[in-house]
Amino acid sequence: MKQAANKSLRKLANLRRQHKDLINLMPLQTGGILTDAAKEALKEFGDGYSVCDFCLGSLCDITNPPVRDFVHELLPQFLGCEVATITHGAREAKFIVMHSLAQPGNSIIVDGNRHYTTIVAAERAGLNVVEVPHSGYPEFRIDVNDYIPLIEKHNPKLILLTYPDGNYGNLPDATKLGKITQEYGIPYILNGAYAVGRMPIKMSDVGADFIIGSGHKSMASAGPCGVLGMKKKWEEIVLRKAKAYSNKEVELLGCTLRGVPLITLMASFPYVKERVNHWDEQVAKTQWFSGELEKLGFKQLGEKPHRHDLLHFEAPMLYDISKRVRERGYFFYKELKDRGIWGPQPGMTKAFKVSTFAANKEQLVFVVNSFKAILSKYS
Ligand SMILES: *Cc1c(COP(=O)(O)O)cnc(C)c1O
Repeated sequence: MKQAANKSLRKLANLRRQHKDLINLMPLQTGGILTDAAKEALKEFGDGYSVCDFCLGSLCDITNPPVRDFVHELLPQFLGCEVATITHGAREAKFIVMHSLAQPGNSIIVDGNRHYTTIVAAERAGLNVVEVPHSGYPEFRIDVNDYIPLIEKHNPKLILLTYPDGNYGNLPDATKLGKITQEYGIPYILNGAYAVGRMPIKMSDVGADFIIGSGHKSMASAGPCGVLGMKKKWEEIVLRKAKAYSNKEVELLGCTLRGVPLITLMASFPYVKERVNHWDEQVAKTQWFSGELEKLGFKQLGEKPHRHDLLHFEAPMLYDISKRVRERGYFFYKELKDRGIWGPQPGMTKAFKVSTFAANKEQLVFVVNSFKAILSKYS
């Protein structure tokens, strides 16, 4: 027992990562790769509570490092909202809004492509979730007009749209839903975990009441962290202060990101703010890549032509191969890793998801050629 424990301790003192420095196509990771500035800040502010040296009681008002300017000026501008705050992640932001605007037993309406964390956050807040169905295989589209009959039937306290969803990378008509929710006077959450920090998106253009982003998913931050923007009218409800502590928000338990997640989010922000202007180039890269994979016999699911870097492919040929090779479902992962590529979930071959966001065109050409070589090796 003791020997085994010592071995475990030694491992902890020398942690290494499997897929560092490979071409990264893993959708969860491509928007969260740190900038050099963030890596520096990570070391500088790695020690516990070191961002709090000059805190006077409110994290978001710290001026050194410049948290106040970041949260109260730069973020609202970037998100197109009046008030912003920082959270531990997109899921925490969703929970905070649900918990402060709805009562247990209330209903909310969400899209059928919603992330699992939407469902879990709603459960924690005691809410009933009604889902707007998607169009099914192969595009899985959400038509926002389908919210209307459900709004009339269920009298929801909140509306949520996932933009884009994390399974197909579909971008429903968020602005049209803004008009619908305003007509019915129902607060509208735009979950932009895969949008904010990748593509240009402003809450004010969409007509939403809340916008949510994920720092480690799409804002080049170590995380876990998220951003939450809102209309001014929700501030006194969602960011209400504790009775006993006039500078501590109840829903944030006083302070949220008191360390490295925040400092890397801030250090990468100038870069992230600029990179969203190059979204057209990202989409062109994605569409090219999707076309090349379809030529090889993979079938892209989700909207076509695709408008987001997250791609989902069916791969019956890979599945067939996996049934007759020793490594089973892991053969594809191993073949890619041998070629310096990391992305599709190890063990999965029937279908896989990749993101073209972090790889440049030259690397994607190499990826396509590698896929081709793997298929012919096993044919
Ligand atoms: C990844 C993801 C989340 C969760 O983000 P966290 O910041 O890790 O909580 C929520 N919604 C969608 C659509 C996602 O893709």
